[in-house]
Amino acid sequence: MRLKKYVYPIIILIIFEAVAVTLWLTKDNLFYLFNFSYIGSSISLGIFLFIRKYKHARRVVQLLVGLYMLVYLGLICNENMQIEGFWYYLFTGVFEAATIHYAVAKIFGPLIFGRGWCGYACWTAMVLDFLPYKVPEQPRKSIGWIRYVTFAASLIFVAALFLAKVGNIERIMFWAFIAGNAVYYGIGIALAFKFKDNRAFCKYICPVTVFLKPMSYYSMIRIKCNRDLCIDCGKCRRVCPMNVDVTDNARNRKNGTECILCMECVKNCPKKAL
Ligand code: SF4
Ligand code: SF4
Ligand code: SF4
Repeated sequence: MRLKKYVYPIIILIIFEAVAVTLWLTKDNLFYLFNFSYIGSSISLGIFLFIRKYKHARRVVQLLVGLYMLVYLGLICNENMQIEGFWYYLFTGVFEAATIHYAVAKIFGPLIFGRGWCGYACWTAMVLDFLPYKVPEQPRKSIGWIRYVTFAASLIFVAALFLAKVGNIERIMFWAFIAGNAVYYGIGIALAFKFKDNRAFCKYICPVTVFLKPMSYYSMIRIKCNRDLCIDCGKCRRVCPMNVDVTDNARNRKNGTECILCMECVKNCPKKAL
């Protein structure tokens, strides 16, 4: 059955449609039907293209989802989908937009699909992945602690707005979204060139990884190595943008919580051991 191989994109589409219809009906808001149908269709299309061996399949999903979230949700609908927006909606007690987005993509979703968000949907990485250092050219640095500083700074920033009872916080959050993205892109691009590593921002600075890393440790979907086929050539480790030792199947493998499911290791393994 030639169609059998397309079962995964169909399952993904059905799951997203179920979420879309459920949220549409329970929240009585047509936006959820459109939003989750669009994201589900984009991801399904990416998986379909991957199965068809189209080499830019992941980038297609990244652009479809990333631009939608940055331009449509962020700039046109004025939804701050960055971590500051998450704190903002959390403090106001509204389970909408950024809180749903964080719950699905970055807090509970990683228990199923790990850091798939980072590989296929993040609008920051969507730009960083165009830079020249797809494979890191320098060893990893021990400065990952910076992510806790940026995480705390985002929380303090929003908490301070509430504590100071600043007026028109919604408008401030919109400008915070613009400024925050400009800063992320600026630092991300500068670090990529400094460390010769497109994903340096993800490894050391991104505050969202404070959620993503521990949750993805328990991810159901993981790249595993068939040790009977593996010849220890090391190619998978050399092409990995996140320095994961994917030949080790243990959950605590080296940089295991960094895997963004980009499939570069799978595509490059000469023995199809992954
Ligand atoms: S680590 Fe942060 S910046 Fe990098 S892809 Fe993930 S969410 Fe985006
Ligand atoms: S590329 Fe394949 S064969 Fe080589 S070390 Fe990795 S898993 Fe083993
Ligand atoms: S190359 Fe493999 S191990 Fe590395 S991030 Fe991509 S999928 Fe994960």
